[in-house]
Amino acid sequence: MSDITEKREGEFFEDVLKYFNRAAKFVDVSEGLLEQIKYCNSVYRMRFPIKVGNDFQVIEAYRVEHSHHKLPTKGGIRFSTAVNQDEVMALAALMTYKCAIVDVPFGGAKGGIKISPRKTTPEEMERITRRYTSELIKKNFIGPGIDVPAPDYGSSEREMAWIADTYATFYPSEMNALACVTGKPISQGGIRGRKEATGLGVYYGIREALNIEEDCAKWGMTTGMAGKTFVIQGFGNVGFHSAKFIHEGGGKIIAIAEWDGALYNQDGIDPFAVEAHRNKTGSIKGFPGAQDYDKYGALEIECDVLVPAALENQINKDNVERIKCKMIAEAANGPVTPEAEDVLIKKGVYIIPDIYLNAGGVTVSYFEWLKNISHVRFGRLGKRYDESASKNMISVVEELTGKAATEVQKSLVERGADEKDLVYSGLEETMISAYHDIRNEFKNTPGIPDLRTAAFVVAIKKIALSYNTLGVFP
Ligand code: GLU
Repeated sequence: MSDITEKREGEFFEDVLKYFNRAAKFVDVSEGLLEQIKYCNSVYRMRFPIKVGNDFQVIEAYRVEHSHHKLPTKGGIRFSTAVNQDEVMALAALMTYKCAIVDVPFGGAKGGIKISPRKTTPEEMERITRRYTSELIKKNFIGPGIDVPAPDYGSSEREMAWIADTYATFYPSEMNALACVTGKPISQGGIRGRKEATGLGVYYGIREALNIEEDCAKWGMTTGMAGKTFVIQGFGNVGFHSAKFIHEGGGKIIAIAEWDGALYNQDGIDPFAVEAHRNKTGSIKGFPGAQDYDKYGALEIECDVLVPAALENQINKDNVERIKCKMIAEAANGPVTPEAEDVLIKKGVYIIPDIYLNAGGVTVSYFEWLKNISHVRFGRLGKRYDESASKNMISVVEELTGKAATEVQKSLVERGADEKDLVYSGLEETMISAYHDIRNEFKNTPGIPDLRTAAFVVAIKKIALSYNTLGVFP
């Protein structure tokens, strides 16, 4: 994935506060409680050494728990040279609002380790990840009911397996030890569907927005995904899976941008073929089905939907005037700055905000955590029962009508849901109902400027309510 434009260090958390303050005007919550909600509860900055050759390398790392209104806190760990305290704080805050919007009963958190995973050997990655985990253990910043990390930019199921193993080594009698981290490989307590969850959620969210005729008419679009043009920025786990589901759903991907270059073809690009090409050559560049393109310029290509799926601050005051899409679907966290957003709203660009759109990852993380603490695979108890109940139903219908069902008809009905079916369906339900929650807030609150503010309003109201229920602020 990409570090496409320079980050403005120290401003990301400020941006989140700006979004929060915009929304605060539309909620009936006391000043004191708003203060409690918006700032980070615990910030843990650490430095630890790892041995490299004959010397030590000092690693700078963070874990921020933004809100303890629900426990555990939840959020990924980012491995990147751009990691800094401000960034981790901002991302932790976004996690709090994200979880509230999709009704995942967790507070928000985020971790960051300041290294380049591309330049670090797998052995060093393992040492760093295990040491980071033991630092978290020392300070009580990890545990199934405390704080539960997950993958983020630069990390994957491999690192999550190391975290789970380290934690289990420290707590050998903790029967819920596997629930201390999500995004694990299936063989280590992971759940089917987690890897693609964020991209799939992005797809469900865009599809839902494009299904509403009244809204599409406002944006000058017809309804439906089919034939719409998409530009995808970032081709990591989130970018690739967003592209995959959009492509399968009939969308036309005309450009893909990555950290080392971009591709463009107005007739459409097959993301599977690009992935195959990258696996072979190590880069998306030189893909025969498209022309190489400037990685910054790709964002400015005219399209229906621009999907930033890389890092924060990608659409900012420097390039916003040149953005020519009708909709921005924020698969990344914080890809549009507040200044850029003001310009885009004036231009009539519809922004589906990150705190809703990329919540698919944490939603399925929640399912994985539930699986781990209940110690049973989803579908294990009901699958065969449902299958035989539908078989019986078909026999009854055949008997009553005197007609035999075809094999195709049978295969449609005679199925029990397995883990992946249930995860996909739970995610689809979550993304659709959350979209309508934030859209209704947007439509029904006089003066509310955009969908992001509406999403923050929905989140703040839910968080405030949970404090009231606890009786902390009567
Ligand atoms: N890192 C992902 C995010 O930003 C997933 C977090 C999680 O699953 O806890 O939403």
